[in-house]
Amino acid sequence: MLKSCVITNEIQNFTFDAIGVVESPYQEKFAIPRQPNLVSAAKGKVILVGEANNHELVRGIEQFSHLWLIFVFHGTQGQGWKPLVRPPRLGGNMKTGVLATRSTFRPNPIGMSVVKLDKVVTEKQQTVLHLSGLDLLNGTPIIDIKPYVPYSDAIIGADAGFAQQQPETTLTVEFSNKAQTDLAQYTQKYSELALFIEQVLKQDPRPAYKQGKVDNKTYGMSLYDLNIQWQLTTLDTVLVLNITQINK
Ligand code: SAM
Repeated sequence: MLKSCVITNEIQNFTFDAIGVVESPYQEKFAIPRQPNLVSAAKGKVILVGEANNHELVRGIEQFSHLWLIFVFHGTQGQGWKPLVRPPRLGGNMKTGVLATRSTFRPNPIGMSVVKLDKVVTEKQQTVLHLSGLDLLNGTPIIDIKPYVPYSDAIIGADAGFAQQQPETTLTVEFSNKAQTDLAQYTQKYSELALFIEQVLKQDPRPAYKQGKVDNKTYGMSLYDLNIQWQLTTLDTVLVLNITQINK
């Protein structure tokens, strides 16, 4: 006979401590790609904290090229959730069950991203994982890290409904003369800055209902400590107007 499953308080409520914190170039939600690895030039770090800041926890991890980061959507967790959401992939106007999406507004605000592990560095008692392809806000708390195991995690031929294909990126990104001069000032500090900006803008960070439409608004996005202004000049061209340092 199967024992019936009763949910007791003991197995209903959990408390986890963060094991790390993300240092990411994305300072606000706007312009963060909707999934990891769409912007390979997005470089960041996980800084291990508390009892997890011990290099023994990551011994052997460099054998794995990619890792799963399990994290808390700390930037939106206070905003609650609803059973139905409007995924941007469906143009933002069709409702789908929240558990059938990767929405940030979920019953438990937990996210998971596969990212590339570039290297692990322990210096002065601080262990840091260097990563690329992030889709995470700066300061994101990490509650677990696991190796990505292709034989089990990558399922060839799996069905993914409305998210079967990677979103198309048809936009061409151009830099104005002013933006090119600005870039030259910051490339020593951020070596792949032009590529990073290009990859981010190719995703068309505008709201879902504006995708595929021209608008004449000037947008600003924060990457690292920089504010980047840009505009769509045609249906398929984005022009970077200027890059300025954000005064802290
Ligand atoms: N790959 C993860 C997943 O599937 O669970 C995240 C997918 S979610 C659609 C990606 C979006 O989450 C990003 O575009 C960004 O707007 C948002 N995001 C990233 N980090 C966040 C954080 N710490 N708090 C709130 N929102 C965050």
